[in-house]
Amino acid sequence: MATPLDFVFDQAPVRVVFGAGKRAQCAAEVDALGRGNVMVTTTARGRKHLSELGLGMSGRVVDVFDGSVQHVPERVAKAATARARAAGADVIVAFGGGSAIGLAKAIALEHDAVIVAVPTTYAGSEMTRVFGITTDGGKLTGRDPRVKPQVVVYDPQLTATMPVPLALTSGFNSMAHAVEALYAENADPITSTLAKQSITALGHALQGIAGDPGNADAHAEALYGAFLSGWTLDNAGMGLHHKLCHVLGGSYNLPHAPTHTIVLPHAIGYNQVGAPDAIASVAEALGVDDAARGLFDIIAGVGAPTALKDIGMAEADLDEAADLVMQRRYHNPTPLDRDKIRALLDNAYHGRPPA
Ligand code: NAD
Repeated sequence: MATPLDFVFDQAPVRVVFGAGKRAQCAAEVDALGRGNVMVTTTARGRKHLSELGLGMSGRVVDVFDGSVQHVPERVAKAATARARAAGADVIVAFGGGSAIGLAKAIALEHDAVIVAVPTTYAGSEMTRVFGITTDGGKLTGRDPRVKPQVVVYDPQLTATMPVPLALTSGFNSMAHAVEALYAENADPITSTLAKQSITALGHALQGIAGDPGNADAHAEALYGAFLSGWTLDNAGMGLHHKLCHVLGGSYNLPHAPTHTIVLPHAIGYNQVGAPDAIASVAEALGVDDAARGLFDIIAGVGAPTALKDIGMAEADLDEAADLVMQRRYHNPTPLDRDKIRALLDNAYHGRPPA
């Protein structure tokens, strides 16, 4: 067994409703909470599909905030929280990707309300106690049980509308949570088992979606993998991969999911030395001989991005990025070495296979 039998299993309760068409059950789930006033956080796109949640029937929606954007800027969080207070909302229905869910979490930090999440991407935030808010001074992140949704309604017909490039990068972003859970300092055997299952489901499903975007089974399998990876993100600390992506996204404004997609094989390659058993589990879950190279080939094979230079990174910033990664202190199975991180970034920048 790769994960040592020495652990704390700390799972916050959540009710998960999963299945095609289950979005219509959202209203009944809200009713079952026994609370009165619903505010929805979403985007302009989500607002157009809101009627599909069946909430209109209950007459409980007191406000809809459709200004969710990536990384939850503080001013948006403040505006949405003020609206929730003014409307007397005690349930926030987060309908959208990580941005809509992140905004609901920011509200729940400041205002007494529970969250029902209806995710439309594979980002995984709906399963976690983790929040992030961007201020002028950078991104503040933390853990708080109040921000974890009480109910999550997963409907693969919602994620099936993602354009294929978004579905793929969102899926590899999701896979990254499960990969890092396998070598986390607080890894436990239950989370590791689910992480492996998540990687297998996502690896299989994303190749299925790339080959046949209309394949409903592949969409359901990808969302199932995303649910499991979200679980792992809630229960295990993240390492080098997430810190690299945090630096690249936060300091150079690179897009979240494509950045994760490009970096993941390189982070796996880096951690081969420090966590050989965990990386062997990744290879086994993906059905490949070499986890880093195998995943790189899968990503390239489905046509997802493999080079940071193609998503807005400037080569002149690679040195600074390596320095910023070294400034952060966190657990990672392979010790951080500035020259090796710089070489990793160079390979990721040019789209070369991982070392
Ligand atoms: P997102 O929510 O910003 O959505 C990306 C784009 O896809 C948006 O333009 C959105 O309108 C569109 N979209 C969403 N669903 C769609 C669908 N079904 N069909 C068509 N278009 C759709 O991006 P994301 O990748 O889901 O989330 C990223 C954010 O989530 C980041 O801010 C990240 O930091 C955060 N995040 C937080 C956690 C956590 O645990 N706190 C976990 C993962 C991600």
